[in-house]
Amino acid sequence: MTSPTREVGRPGKSVTPDLRLDTAVQFVKGIGPERARALEAEGITTLQDLLLVLPRRYEDRSNLAPIKTLTAGVRTTICGRIAAVSLKRARRMPIFEAIVEDASGRIKCVFFGQAYMRDSLKVGRRVVLYGAPEWDRFGGGLALHSPDAEILDEGENETEGEAAGEAGMPPPGLEDAIHMGRVVPVYEKRGTLLPKVWRRILTNLVRSLPPNFGGLDLLPPELRAELGVVELREALVSVHDPSPHDDLAALNGARSRGHLRLILEEFFLFAVGLAAKRGDRRPGVVLRANEAARAAAKRVLPFPLTGAQKRVLKEIATDLESGLEMSRLLQGDVGSGKTIVATLAMLLPVANGKQAVLVAPTEVLADQHFFTLGRAFAPIQLPVTRLSGRLRSKERKNALEAIASGEARIIVGTHALFEPDVVFKSLALAIIDEQHRFGVIQREELRRKGQGVHALVMTATPIPRTLALSFHGDLDTSVLDEKPPGRRPIRTSHRFEAQRARIVETARRHLAEGRQVYVVCPLIEESEKLADVRAVTQLTQEWTTWLPGIRVAALHGRLPREEKGAAMDSFVRGETQVLVSTTVIEVGVDVPNATLMVIEQAERFGVAQLHQLRGRVGRSGYASECLLVTRGQPIDQAKERIDAIVASEDGFFLAEKDLEIRGPGEFFGTRQSGRGLFQAGDPVRDRDLLIRARDLADTWWKTAPPNHGLRTYARGPLWAKRFGLSRVG
Ligand code: ADP
Ligand code: MG
Repeated sequence: MTSPTREVGRPGKSVTPDLRLDTAVQFVKGIGPERARALEAEGITTLQDLLLVLPRRYEDRSNLAPIKTLTAGVRTTICGRIAAVSLKRARRMPIFEAIVEDASGRIKCVFFGQAYMRDSLKVGRRVVLYGAPEWDRFGGGLALHSPDAEILDEGENETEGEAAGEAGMPPPGLEDAIHMGRVVPVYEKRGTLLPKVWRRILTNLVRSLPPNFGGLDLLPPELRAELGVVELREALVSVHDPSPHDDLAALNGARSRGHLRLILEEFFLFAVGLAAKRGDRRPGVVLRANEAARAAAKRVLPFPLTGAQKRVLKEIATDLESGLEMSRLLQGDVGSGKTIVATLAMLLPVANGKQAVLVAPTEVLADQHFFTLGRAFAPIQLPVTRLSGRLRSKERKNALEAIASGEARIIVGTHALFEPDVVFKSLALAIIDEQHRFGVIQREELRRKGQGVHALVMTATPIPRTLALSFHGDLDTSVLDEKPPGRRPIRTSHRFEAQRARIVETARRHLAEGRQVYVVCPLIEESEKLADVRAVTQLTQEWTTWLPGIRVAALHGRLPREEKGAAMDSFVRGETQVLVSTTVIEVGVDVPNATLMVIEQAERFGVAQLHQLRGRVGRSGYASECLLVTRGQPIDQAKERIDAIVASEDGFFLAEKDLEIRGPGEFFGTRQSGRGLFQAGDPVRDRDLLIRARDLADTWWKTAPPNHGLRTYARGPLWAKRFGLSRVG
């Protein structure tokens, strides 16, 4: 490890000697105003943010091989000068070629479709290349195809030339040592910042951490000992600037001592923050299950509740009366009957003179809730107000006025409800359906529209039990673990395209009994790129010809809004018998008369999606079926997914299975939708560490001194920024 030696100041400005985790990046040595702006564009504003930009992988570039020793198929690093370049075209694809030579020989490097490489790989420049040589198809010996390339002697036209002039950056000789001759961390390109720039910033940063840095370790020694991890500085150095002795496999598997420390720290801090949130519940509006509420509930109830529904309603009612804000997650597999729970819960605010809101992730689902609630509340003459993006401006204005005046008691809509001009008179209960589609931030935004607002979030996304705690740790959980009575299992089968006649025959049988059919296919948006994805329109035509005399309608995201609504409505009313759709109908749609779900190109869907889609049928006492159609025998994971769905209807079982099949990193929506919750840890790969850290955090929170610095951190802005959750007040 290098000790902090040179203190290079910027003219007229002194280097901040006392780094803190919230020190703004521009005060970090070696980062000028321009780079600070580029970092800010990536959400990196503090030292904490910067240090947590971790390498995606590591490469051993410690041994530079002479070009003449290269072997086909073996990933190797070479260093040489560019001797010649050319730009060709083959079938409209630009191909850039560069000949690189060192003292031992020369090799051709080919960059397909990367004409821009000519801007950096110029004749005479010295480059480091990393890749596996292949035999050239045209008999030209070995060639490197699109290798990783780094230029060692950058000219002034390099975009990252800024660094060269910045204070604290090492001279060119040392600079070389950052990108080669060692195990190099490889970062992801983010915004305008290239992988190499991240490497330079972070290597330099950890090589020059000031002496007081130890004070920034959030984990006190006794906690480190309990977790069995190294101190922060050592961890950061080993992750961002590994030494030649570090085990490459451990680094790449996130099992180096540095990684273990950062992962455990991250999970621990996350869990401590959640403990704080649970412990710091704010005062909530008191809503009593009074006589008015009971009387209304009796008249609204369309069927006897299941035991699970009764239990959950009691849990909710207890929270609403408690004087503290409710933050409750209602988990219930598809079809378990979450909507009626929400419906009855909304009567409590109304009976106490307040407002309740129900938010859905899609227009289709918001519309459906609007009708369901309208029908449920008709006997007690309780009107329902809708606010969605689909409204005309006049309707929208009327709705906003009714919400602001308090005339509207029950409000249903989409994320249009989050807009700042939606002002409530007295919001007391916010229910969010299918919450995996919304973030925590949105939940909090809604809460800010009232005082002491209770929140109920509902989800059918089955989260493996072990992980649920960690992910919804700030929420109390209710589970609907019982299906409504009379439900029959959904018969699920795998069919090949070649069995089309049989598939159509099955559909005919359901239709002949007066039932309805869904046909779902992958997204239409992709249809241009993926030639074999049949668009909804084509599929609709096909089904129309296959089923003469049957009314078939199409529904997909590209339809104008009114048509979307109309297509759904006519299916709900039973006028349309077959609905051909993309996954717009995936969440929440409830048409009990539909009993057959045909999923086309089933190999393209994930387990959770297939399970959700199948959940659109089996919503009545009629026997339901689900057919998973694939062209040929699906391979690998697709086959495992389909087998899992055929084998089980249990959401929790499927969630565990999904975890097994897909492995790390894929499971959580948070990761797919932009920035993940965790930087170092992966809740799937590291679930043992997650559980360990969480248990320790819970104990720690109960026993640590009240004014411990970690408690302050867990309640403060750095924690909120780090975990992307916002706090009110
Ligand atoms: P989900 O939990 O997937 O949102 P829904 O609330 O849409 O499920 O309920 C699925 C179907 O089951 C609906 O048609 C609903 O009316 C019906 N249902 C819910 N609870 C009961 C019950 N206790 N008895 C009979 N039918 C019920
Ligand atoms: Mg639902």
